[in-house]
Amino acid sequence: MAYPVTFIRGDGTGPEISEAVRRVLEATGVEFEWDWQDAGADVYEDEGTPLPDRVIDSIKERGLAIKGPITTPVGSGFRSINVALRKELDLFACLRPCKAYEGVRTRFPDTDLVVVRENHEDLYAGVEYELGDAKTERLREFIKETEGTELREDIGVSIKPISVTGTKRIVREAFEYTKAHNRSKVTAVHKANIMKFTDGLFLKIAREVAEEEYPDIEFEDRIVDNLCNQLVSRPEEYDVIVLPNLYGDIVSDLGAGLIGGLGMAPGANVGDEYAVFEAVHGSAPKYKGQNKVNPMAMMLSGVMLLRHIEEIEAADRLESAIAEVVREGKSVTYDMKPSRDDPTAVGTSDVADAVIAKMETVAAA
Ligand code: NAD
Repeated sequence: MAYPVTFIRGDGTGPEISEAVRRVLEATGVEFEWDWQDAGADVYEDEGTPLPDRVIDSIKERGLAIKGPITTPVGSGFRSINVALRKELDLFACLRPCKAYEGVRTRFPDTDLVVVRENHEDLYAGVEYELGDAKTERLREFIKETEGTELREDIGVSIKPISVTGTKRIVREAFEYTKAHNRSKVTAVHKANIMKFTDGLFLKIAREVAEEEYPDIEFEDRIVDNLCNQLVSRPEEYDVIVLPNLYGDIVSDLGAGLIGGLGMAPGANVGDEYAVFEAVHGSAPKYKGQNKVNPMAMMLSGVMLLRHIEEIEAADRLESAIAEVVREGKSVTYDMKPSRDDPTAVGTSDVADAVIAKMETVAAA
């Protein structure tokens, strides 16, 4: 039976990368029935919205999507489609594995960790008070009345909501991922010493979920600044890391840096009902149409999709083939070469050719 999956090509370099990914996924032998859907700036011009209902409906019907990057034009009328998709489909968890494959240029070859980021709450909730707005003044008065704290007149304010419900489900997601992928430890990250009622709550709930629901899995916590320090000295000590939204955003980019850059960083946004797989990187529009950028991050997102649908053998085979191409260092794009203008760098489609050829020879890891 073919798996029905929504495929969003994306824009900028998205279509080239997506084509490379389609080819390697099909070469695993797993059958897919793609529903091709476009979203983004071009669609906005034609349909008056960058994210038409048909895209959401397609994913709701199939439960699964793989997506190329989409540009968010600065100063345009529309919000990031990526944010909109996460909201519409309640994709509350962002999973970002950070694994250093042999052959990538990194100072941290032993890195193999997974960042689990909460997607909806925290300073990303979109509750903001603008400088000079009457609502901001009312908020200042309320804070003065209730806290006795007088904030400066010339402020802007962003609100940081963290809920018990949101924390429980992201922490559970981290533990479930740990179990499903035979990992061994969860680290909850916070700044509870300063923000007692938000990060403090996150930590309290994380501890409760760990003790009551997953007593057999090792659990620890770290203050976020300490975590960053330790990640750039001994990342091998970390396994699955669960964080509120903002720290998750920052730490997942740090993680991409640990493993050789954006070209190698896959991801997924998942909820209880739907999952959307996509690379961490954006649409790199300056390289559009040049057959230049690295498709491996999105290919590795495809590996995550295969694991998600429990096509484990195919996932292992594709991952091993990618790892082998990286290890050999020949058929890789410019970003994987010692110098960025290395004339031996190959193009996006050549990487797909090399991975497909390897899949035929490499046994499952
Ligand atoms: P970007 O990730 O597109 O590119 C930054 C730089 O990283 C590129 O110039 C390139 O040097 C390098 N790079 C990125 N992907 C690469 C790849 N696959 N192979 C080799 N090198 C790669 O980030 P940006 O320039 O800040 O964003 C461009 C657009 O993408 C923006 O509109 C942004 O909003 C959007 N974006 C979309 C997503 C998404 O769709 N999930 C994520 C991030 C950014």
